[in-house]
Amino acid sequence: MKNIALIGSTGSIGKQVIDVCERNKDKFNIVAMTAGSNADLFLKQINHIKPKLAVMQNEGKAKSITHLIAEGIRLECGEQALLEVASYYQADVVVVAITGFAGLSLTIEALKNGKQVALANKESLVVGGEIVMRLAKEKNIGIIPIDSEHSALWQALNYKTDAKYKRLIITASGGPFLNKTEKELESVTVNDALTHPTWDMGKKITIDSATLLNKGYEVIEAKWLYNAPIEKISTVIHPESIVHSLVEFDDNALMAQLSYPDMRLPISLALSYPERFDCGTKSLCLEDVGKLTFLPLERKKYKCYDLALTSIEKGGCYPAVLNGAGEVAVNAFIQGAIPFLKIGDVIEKVLQKFEFIKADSYSVLKTVDEKARKLAREFM
Ligand code: NAD
Ligand code: MG
Repeated sequence: MKNIALIGSTGSIGKQVIDVCERNKDKFNIVAMTAGSNADLFLKQINHIKPKLAVMQNEGKAKSITHLIAEGIRLECGEQALLEVASYYQADVVVVAITGFAGLSLTIEALKNGKQVALANKESLVVGGEIVMRLAKEKNIGIIPIDSEHSALWQALNYKTDAKYKRLIITASGGPFLNKTEKELESVTVNDALTHPTWDMGKKITIDSATLLNKGYEVIEAKWLYNAPIEKISTVIHPESIVHSLVEFDDNALMAQLSYPDMRLPISLALSYPERFDCGTKSLCLEDVGKLTFLPLERKKYKCYDLALTSIEKGGCYPAVLNGAGEVAVNAFIQGAIPFLKIGDVIEKVLQKFEFIKADSYSVLKTVDEKARKLAREFM
């Protein structure tokens, strides 16, 4: 039996983690879990699962459910309590499934306490890849990726993070606006951008998939997870989202992982590795799929993708600036305050305001993140 601490249980990934655990009650036991502010869903989840510790980030929301929770569950709120879940003494694996910069401190806390991390929160690596990987190495802990592309790479690399390979090839669905012109993109709505053709995900990552900022994030994530120079990472558009990524070896053999797009597969593998078992996914019918398409992903065509690659090429604080500005700009777009194409403009302007500084501690990253958010708000 593996004990699991789940951070972000009410989100898209969080709900699927619960689904995988419910299907395999003899293998997984959720001992601690957290949510942001969705009190209704969190209450249902905790009264059903009965973890020992349940934490809501939002204090008011936590108070609203205190009198309704089942016996034996300790309900807490606030940042300190979130850290307690990330280092929960009974947890074997900590699943970090919250969105944004907020995930970084929790990933660090889990690693510091020697916990195996199953990582969905890609921002932990985008912003803090250097410190996160250093800490994982010091503690001799592998970080198991939940992001589907990185899980596919990990599988193709035979679960090794230090394997020898020639090239990592990350696939991209291209998002909902694959065939739109720049002119058409000027007038796309929030609903258009939130309608992803192949994946059902949280709002932030869905918008990042439409701008392709997400694919830039995934290149950065791969760089840190597999110690890959950026030149060794390629991306290719694959609208069907069946091939989840590939590794090329020295003899030019390509190893890929194929399945219907369903996050329960990488989630389940992250929890059960090295075993595999039924997690509710559908068997892939190749005859139904018929054909698989691959198209070039032109860097200069996608501003946010290009900015992400430039940020990691420059290194230092730039990926943190990119993320901080991006979180503010995407939120503003979702609120209807700026048009779609302005997301890239805001990120670009904020990046231009920063001189290079090393970003090798959490406190520096936190300062950079706050400054990037402030500047992004000012530009809007
Ligand atoms: P989501 O918005 O659906 O859920 C986010 C969860 O985190 C919710 O439970 C929310 O309450 C909680 N949360 C958000 N901000 C918080 C904060 N500041 N403090 C405490 N809790 C907070 O997001 P998601 O789609 O599940 O994505 C989660 C992470 O996984 C993101 O980093 C995303 O990039 C990554 N990811 C998601 C998918 C996917 O299919 N959804 C795929 C790959 C990677
Ligand atoms: Mg992905």
